[in-house]
Parts: sequence; C-alpha cells; structure tokens
Amino acid sequence: MDGPAHAYTYPDVGLLIGGDWIHDRAPCHHVQNPANDEILGPVPGATDADLDRALEIAQKGFEIWRKVPPQERSALLKRVAQLMRERAAEIAPAITLEHGKPLADAEAEVSRSSSFLDWDAEQLLRNCGRIVPTQHPNYQFVVREPIGPVAAFTPWNVPVSAAGRKLAGTIAAGCSVIIKPASQTPASTCLLAQCFLDAGLPEGVLQVVHGNSARVSEKLILSPVIRAVTLTGSVEVGKQLMRLAAEGVKPALMELGGHAPVLIGADVNPAKVAELAVGGKFRMAGQLCVSPSRFLVHEKVYDDFTGEFAARAAKLKVGDGFTEGAEVGPLVNFRRIETMQGMVDDAVMRGAKLLSGGNRVGNKGCFYAPTVLGDVPLDARVMHEEPFGPIAPCAKVADMEEALRIANDIEVGLAGYVFTNDVELADRLSNALECGSVAINQFTSPGADAPFGGHKESGIGTEGGMETLDAYTVSKTISQRRVNI
Ligand code: NAD
Repeated sequence: MDGPAHAYTYPDVGLLIGGDWIHDRAPCHHVQNPANDEILGPVPGATDADLDRALEIAQKGFEIWRKVPPQERSALLKRVAQLMRERAAEIAPAITLEHGKPLADAEAEVSRSSSFLDWDAEQLLRNCGRIVPTQHPNYQFVVREPIGPVAAFTPWNVPVSAAGRKLAGTIAAGCSVIIKPASQTPASTCLLAQCFLDAGLPEGVLQVVHGNSARVSEKLILSPVIRAVTLTGSVEVGKQLMRLAAEGVKPALMELGGHAPVLIGADVNPAKVAELAVGGKFRMAGQLCVSPSRFLVHEKVYDDFTGEFAARAAKLKVGDGFTEGAEVGPLVNFRRIETMQGMVDDAVMRGAKLLSGGNRVGNKGCFYAPTVLGDVPLDARVMHEEPFGPIAPCAKVADMEEALRIANDIEVGLAGYVFTNDVELADRLSNALECGSVAINQFTSPGADAPFGGHKESGIGTEGGMETLDAYTVSKTISQRRVNI
C-alpha cells in the first residue's frame, strides 16, 4: 500500500538522564514505521552505568521535588498541559509515524493526555490529610506523602496518553519518575518529556530510558531507590513486573489487558448499534485495551446486527495514518498480522462464518482488513485471547443471562459494554459484569475525571478520578503528645 507524501520527519530519540538528552549510545534497536516498513531511526540503549546514574539522580530529584509547594507543582503541570496542546502539531505526527494511527486519532490522544495533567494538577491541591479526634492534649494527624522514586513502563498503543497519565500522577504526587516507553514508540514520549523540561521541571524529577525491556525493568525495579512500579501493558508483562516488585515489597499499579464483552439486548435498533460498534471496534485498528472484542448478541436482533456490522466494516478506509480520510491504520508489526490470521483461521476451522475481512491488505506495511466473524464458537481462540486488532467475533445468545455468563467466564475484566433500552436490565448487567468500567449504549471509557483500571487479571489499582494520587502516595500517622517532657 503506497503512503501519502508528507513533510514530517521522525524526531531524534534520546535518553533523558539528569537534565540532558543523550544520543551517543549504541542503538538497542531501530524504530520502524508500521505503515510502510521504513526505518525511522535508532534508539540509544541505556548502559548499566546509565541506569545506575539515572537511579542516583532520581533519588536526588525526589528529595528536591517533594519539598516544592503544591501550588508550584500544580502550576508546573498546567504549563506542561498547555505546552502539549501548543505542540500537538509536532507530537501527533510523531505518534502517527511510529504507531501508524490516523493523524486525527493521534491529535485526540495528545488532547486526552493533556487533560490528565490538568486534572492531576487540580487533584494534588486536594491531597489533604486529616486530624483524628483523640484525647486532649494529644493530637493524631494522618498525612499522605509521596512514595518515592517510581519506575514507569508504558505501551505502544497509546504512547502519549499512557505516559501522560503516569507522569501526571507521579509528578503531581511529589515523586520522581524514570519512564521506559515501549520500544516501538519512544519518540512521542521524548517529545512529551521535553514539555516537562520546558515547563521548568527540576533536573532529575523525570528521566527517560530505553533498552532491552527485561534488563531495564529488572535493574530499575530491583534497585532500592525505586519505591513503586507502574505499568500499562499486557497481563504477561504485568505478572513479570509484579514478581520483581514483590522482591522489594513494592506496590505495583497494573493497568493490563482486557477482552471487552458487548452485550446487545433484544430491544435495540440493531442498525444503530452496528453503526456505533464499527466506530468503537475498529478505532485504532482495535489496538486499544478497552476495544470491544466479544459481541454477544440476542438472537432476535443477531442477523440484522451482524449483517449491518459487516457491511459497514467492509466500507472502512484502511490506510496510512497520514492519508486523508483514513479510518483504520496498520497493526504495530508484521507478527500481529500473523496473529490475526491465526485467530481468524482457528475460528473458521471451528465453524465460525467470515462476514467481512479476514485478510491482510496490500503487501507493504502491516494492514489487516476490518474483520467480522459470525457464529463464533466459545472455544475459538479469539473468544479467550485478547485479539488487540481489527477482529470482531460475534456470537448469538438466547437471553441476556447467557450473555452475562459468557462475558464473565474469563480471567480478565477491564471494560464491558451493554446495549438495551431496558433500564432495569442495564442496571442488572452493569452491576453483574466483572470489569473495571461499563459503558451503556455507547463506546466510551473513563477520562481524567473518573477512576480507570481493571478487575481480575486486568490489573491492580486505578488511574484518574479522585483516587489519582493513591498509587503514588503513602499514609503516615503522626501522634503527638502536647506536654513538656
Ligand atoms: P507490553 O506488556 O508488551 O509492554 C508494555 C511495557 O512493558 C513496555 O514499556 C515494554 O517495553 C515493557 N516490557 C515488555 N516486555 C517486558 C519484559 N519482558 N520485562 C519488562 N518490561 C517489559 O504491552 P504492549 O504490547 O506494549 O501493549 C499492549 C498491551 O497493553 C495490551 O495487552 C493492552 O490491553 C494493554 N494495555 C492496557 C491498558 C490499560 O490501561 N489497562 C492500556 C493500554 C494497553
């Protein structure tokens, strides 16, 4: 597939250690554009000495930053949010180059990421403690303190949004942070980090490292300097990082994968739901942790829903994220195409009907056709493994109790969706779904103002909302006896 001509150049990727960008290290790998297979640029790998230095500086950065008054920390985060919005025309194309998503989606991601900074800038001003009533003349105070230097790991699918959430939360809380972006998408995180530097963040509060993921995470998490871990990523990597964190009894905020069920009742207009489903499912080529990925449809509306869903999916414009009107970008790498094909073939072999797509698009880049599968049996791989791609498996259910049983019969529980006009049914299903967020009659997920996180193996802890600083702060109880001694 030929891409459009554009004038964007890929930014230099560096290590940010102390206040300096370092470029002169041997590359740990090169970033590739998934839309056209072009090599975008090298990624300098941190040496062990670099990581040791970053840890030492993170400790010093924490000692400085924790003492900065909350009003100053808040103002700085707001400046970062403003800089991000001003630089959206620079940051969004970098996301599209390294990730492939349509430029409009990349712009929306920058805006969403800046909203996390604005929200956390406000929340840190409300990080209040309390006085616990106790016998006069004694006092007992409870305060929330920053936990210490944090190691953060972010995924490639929402590189600026995930990094924005973690940098906002940690820095708002008064922590220092060392972030390792996903190897596929390091440049957009570097541009985000530059916004913090330009907003006046003291040296050593935020550092960025790259390198072999397993080596970097082991080195950082096992270091006594690091006091907490935060990951947005897959369940598998989450378990690995939790094991490392357990060595030092360190809390670990885990935002992991899901496999979101969509429960569609008998009383809906199936064409209307299909129209929404196409937007919800194929946005970012289905590479979203909250992407709807198991459609459990009441038999009364099943044929109409799947027919309309497949027809609309087949009309979506697949292409390079810089192409005018492109709606579905590439998958992140070629291996993902093989995974998609494997899941589709497995489902069809078990009796599923291919209603649209089911094939690679073009022979350049990593494009896969928006795919709708009908009558997918429950033992098909795609019903149990997070597809993380443009595949929508649909299954017919006799009633919503059956849909609920299937929805919950899985180890993960990040997002769930319910479509019905029956308010009581919507209440019952949303209460019974075992997942961290439920959207009714829409495909949305929580923004900055509500907690976002997974149940079951989809994670531990939440980001955003009133609770946004919880993962990066610890309680301390101070009791004071007011007597001369
Ligand atoms: P991933 O788990 O492979 O990588 C995430 C981060 O962990 C990256 O920084 C990566 O470099 C690092 N990493 C990878 N392998 C590692 C290892 N062996 N040791 C230590 N660190 C390692 O995830 P991904 O493929 O980048 O992202 C896709 C996954 O993320 C999907 O499962 C998706 O559902 C999930 N996700 C979850 C959320 C959420 O908020 N719950 C949001 C976005 C993505």
